[in-house]
Amino acid sequence: MECPRCPSVELAKENYEGVEIDRCPQCKGAWLDYGEVSKIVEKRQVVFSQEFKAEAMAETFRGVPQEAQESRIPCPECMRMMTTFNYGSDSGVILDKCKKDHGFWFDNDELEKVQALRESWQDEASKRGDEWKKLISSEPSEEEPYDGTLSPFKLLVNLFYD
Ligand SMILES: [Zn+2]
Ligand SMILES: [Zn+2]
Repeated sequence: MECPRCPSVELAKENYEGVEIDRCPQCKGAWLDYGEVSKIVEKRQVVFSQEFKAEAMAETFRGVPQEAQESRIPCPECMRMMTTFNYGSDSGVILDKCKKDHGFWFDNDELEKVQALRESWQDEASKRGDEWKKLISSEPSEEEPYDGTLSPFKLLVNLFYD
């Protein structure tokens, strides 16, 4: 498979936390299918510094910026143009996803960022156990105005699709 960003650069197999992924040796982008993504985010082998987590948390926002919507890249498997989405709906990490569900493209450090965010969310969730459990069990309302905080319901239950 070729890198969707770098012309005629072959993706190389790499072992990432015990999961075999395809990574571009040039731009360091990574190609993962749904199962591989879930396996990696469930593991906590990579330990992130508080600084890295804080940085990832500080960059969170909702929606997909115009420029990210326009910079389309092809799926390395089927060559169809992929679609962009905001991981966890408000993480601020914009990933590319194959419309035929072949997989997800993570640019450079996006995979690490997604993991760091998951860790922060999990830390936060265990800290505020009851409060979060309540939120998770209540029906989410799409009409509620966004108050700048991450939505734990979306993060824990609806990680990949809005
Ligand atoms: Zn590349
Ligand atoms: Zn595809």
